[in-house]
Amino acid sequence: MAEETIFSKIIRQEIPADILYQDDLVTAFRDINPQAPTHILIVPNKLIPTVNDVTPEDEPTVGRMFTVASKIARDEGIAEDGYRLMVNCGRHGGQDVYHLHMHLFGGRQLGRMLASK
Ligand code: AMP
Repeated sequence: MAEETIFSKIIRQEIPADILYQDDLVTAFRDINPQAPTHILIVPNKLIPTVNDVTPEDEPTVGRMFTVASKIARDEGIAEDGYRLMVNCGRHGGQDVYHLHMHLFGGRQLGRMLASK
């Protein structure tokens, strides 16, 4: 059984967060340490620690993460200029919180691909 993270408490609204969207499968809230003018996290309500733990049964949830990302991008007014979706996995991927999440970055021109090698 995977250990819960702070994201489970945010999903259950037990601790404060700037929640923009929530439904039966996913929750989206602003990142506490934004790396771009728009920096939002889209997370499954179910605790899936990493991409390595995604199963075929999670496909509706993972699909919902994308449709919610595109809805939020429209709502934030960044859809036309464009944005970046990013999912870190594990140590080499730079994952700090072990509850699957998609970063949505936008609101400025982003650097190309990876910041460092
Ligand atoms: P990652 O490195 O991909 O695991 O990203 C974790 C992200 O979660 C970071 O961008 C953090 O700033 C963000 N984060 C951590 N705690 C909170 C919180 N309580 N509310 C919102 N974002 C958070």
